[in-house]
Amino acid sequence: MSPAVEYLDDPPSLVLQSDAVQEKDNNAKTSAFKPAIATETVSCPICKSTDFYPVCESGDYEYVLPGKFFVVRCKSCNLFLQNPRPPFPEILRYYTEKYEPFRKVGSNLVQRLRNYVLGRHRTNLYRKLVAPNGSIVDVGCATGALLRDLKKHGTWQLTGVEPVPEVAEMARSTGLNVVTGVLEEANLPSSAFDLAIMNHVLEHVPDPSLVVRHVVRILKPGGRFTGEIPAPVCLERILFGKYWGGYHLPRHLTFFGPSQIKRFLENHGFEEVKTTGCIQPSNWLLSFSNYLKATNPPLIQKGWFSPHNFLLLALSTPFAFLISLFGLCPIIRFSARKPE
Ligand SMILES: [Zn+2]
Repeated sequence: MSPAVEYLDDPPSLVLQSDAVQEKDNNAKTSAFKPAIATETVSCPICKSTDFYPVCESGDYEYVLPGKFFVVRCKSCNLFLQNPRPPFPEILRYYTEKYEPFRKVGSNLVQRLRNYVLGRHRTNLYRKLVAPNGSIVDVGCATGALLRDLKKHGTWQLTGVEPVPEVAEMARSTGLNVVTGVLEEANLPSSAFDLAIMNHVLEHVPDPSLVVRHVVRILKPGGRFTGEIPAPVCLERILFGKYWGGYHLPRHLTFFGPSQIKRFLENHGFEEVKTTGCIQPSNWLLSFSNYLKATNPPLIQKGWFSPHNFLLLALSTPFAFLISLFGLCPIIRFSARKPE
């Protein structure tokens, strides 16, 4: 893709400064990390089109690892996706030991409070989708935080699937039943589960259709499928452009909006597909943090701004509530049913 392309998401006044600052920062901090090159082109996973509008050229602002990545929008179905993108094994290098979902919950009180509130909220939601004695699989369970909440507050039969062996072992060490591997290679039995959960996973996988076909296979007839995904049709992306936390490049590959996830799941035979916005104020702070890391690194380095800052979280919560009233949340939750 030519660097001369005019990207829809790039605020021009920010681009020159941020690129220069980030390049300098990258050179200083991550000189040993060899950037992945976007060489692989893909077609739209929903409509198979190869015709795209450019959206933005962006980078890994969250972990400040080097590399230039590209987001486009399908001209046919409006799906946002990373294209071209590095080959998947190259992208895996960007999941370093600092990658937050792979780390144990630390002593940070705000993180623990947030996880507690989110865990209780999700448990109450899943209680409406599955009977008390039902079977639940959490695909991409990471260290098992959600499964532990479900175990603590319910009587379900629980299974986790986690592709990273060390992370799966961390989950198993807390007494959970966790299979190591990606879903398509985990050899889970067919028609075995009442509920499949996939929170913040679908956007990471190189072939979402392959994964969802396996979700259909392992669900019982009438079983439910739910998950959370970053949705690009949100005020946050409009305001922050290429610094939007939901891009999370190069780890996120596909960005389904409400109408795209509905069409995608219906293409795979699901019915009763619904979406709702998730109120998660920390996502706003992540986008803001990305922007500051690129434009004003000293502010971040001095610790004056953090997505885990209690005061900032408290201040951004009413704003996140307000945005949700207009259907412009940066994260959406989908729910669907496999036909009987
Ligand atoms: Zn498409």
